[in-house]
Amino acid sequence: MGKPIARETFHGVCVDLSFEGKGVVKNGRDVYFVPGIFPSEEGDIEFAYMRAGQKFGRVVKLDKISPNRIEPRCKICSACGGCSFQQYAYPAQLVYKREKVKEQFRKIAKMDIEPLPCLGMDEPYFYRNKIQMPFGKDKRGNLYCGFYKEGTHVIVPVETCYIEDERAKKVLDAVKKLGKSFRIEPYEEDEGRGLLRHVLIRCAKHKEQVMVVLVTYKDAFPSRNNFVKALVKECPFITTVVQNVNSRHTNVILGEFERVLYGPGYIEDVLCGITFRISAKSFYQVNPIMTEQLYGKAIEAAKLTKNDVVFDAYSGIGTIGMVASRHCKQVIAVEIVKEAVADARRNAKANHIDNVSFYCGDASAFMVNMAEKKQHVDVVFLDPPRKGSDQRCLDAICKLAPSRVVYVSCDPSTLARDIAYLSKKYKLESVQPVDMFPHTMHVETVAMLSLRDSRK
Ligand code: SAH
Repeated sequence: MGKPIARETFHGVCVDLSFEGKGVVKNGRDVYFVPGIFPSEEGDIEFAYMRAGQKFGRVVKLDKISPNRIEPRCKICSACGGCSFQQYAYPAQLVYKREKVKEQFRKIAKMDIEPLPCLGMDEPYFYRNKIQMPFGKDKRGNLYCGFYKEGTHVIVPVETCYIEDERAKKVLDAVKKLGKSFRIEPYEEDEGRGLLRHVLIRCAKHKEQVMVVLVTYKDAFPSRNNFVKALVKECPFITTVVQNVNSRHTNVILGEFERVLYGPGYIEDVLCGITFRISAKSFYQVNPIMTEQLYGKAIEAAKLTKNDVVFDAYSGIGTIGMVASRHCKQVIAVEIVKEAVADARRNAKANHIDNVSFYCGDASAFMVNMAEKKQHVDVVFLDPPRKGSDQRCLDAICKLAPSRVVYVSCDPSTLARDIAYLSKKYKLESVQPVDMFPHTMHVETVAMLSLRDSRK
């Protein structure tokens, strides 16, 4: 016999996974969202809390285990929450991600679609090239770093993270060790004191280059040069160190001001045969292996020809546009972060690509302007941040009427919303989920749309 069941405890069966990866457990007419339980599993669940009118529960005891449940490599994956999906067999993760895309289209776009099978990784570990961790200090004065526990600012200390490039651990261990001897104080949010907020590491996949960004609360950094010297000595593979100052009380990791402390202030990496320069503030996809697959699918979907004029909206450092430029006549790209645009321009020059023009600005405003000028465009690539595109941008696309739109999205719900909006003028031809983020609940999707025949 187990422990007696408390008042608010019930026996339930998990019937689904929510889009956040929580188990959906029914208790009569009530639905509970419960972390740590997978479809087909059964057990005792207790009520935990209400949020936005929804009930959340906690597993007290599991009686029936899913055949897809596996022993995770990372022992703290439940506590950390970053990749709680590690407890679910990888092929089952891919099935879930395809379903999630299908579900979002059904719920949000009211469209019944059949996405292609989710493309996965052969070796879904140590894939992340960008690592950012906050720092804390324990009672004995030792520094630790980790991830924030879901919904809080409590750091769950992480020693080894199984999805991050293995060089990152060496850097973080060195910062912890040197940070203690150099008496570097971690930033304390509540009190507004201390120095070190985050350490951000970017590792190139196809070049031996690693960037370390020390995000500090203040500009003044005692023994800055000696600290950097010691860090590079400990980790000779570091090719550049940047200090970024963020004095704001915000969740945003990077601040405005930057100072290059060592090396050129950027790294380079190779993607689809093109060399890209990446600065601290520029967006760069976090899974280099799957990015090549993603771009391959996006370019294939666009069916580019040598006469095509292509528009790359939300272009970052120009990756999609530059890969596309080899297959078309001309590319126009727009991106809002000026450092990324500067990277993009240098990238094009360094790769002898002369048929791409990069503009810094808001994608929607830019497209509205293009539509007013009745500019001709054959293909639009859209790769917005999670919140998706906006109506101004989508209306401008409908006005510009390119024959093909390729929408690359990291959030299937905003993708479904935007595609529903475009569907008055565009037909959805294919939806390809790509697993850019194994062991997390996230999924990337390439959707291909073609202009409906306006004469009909
Ligand atoms: N296509 C690129 C970047 C995609 S991420 C790649 O594959 O690497 C989305 C990009 O949109 C980021 O670089 C972000 O800075 C940019 N962005 C965000 N809001 C924007 C806006 N309103 N207009 C233009 N770009 C924007």
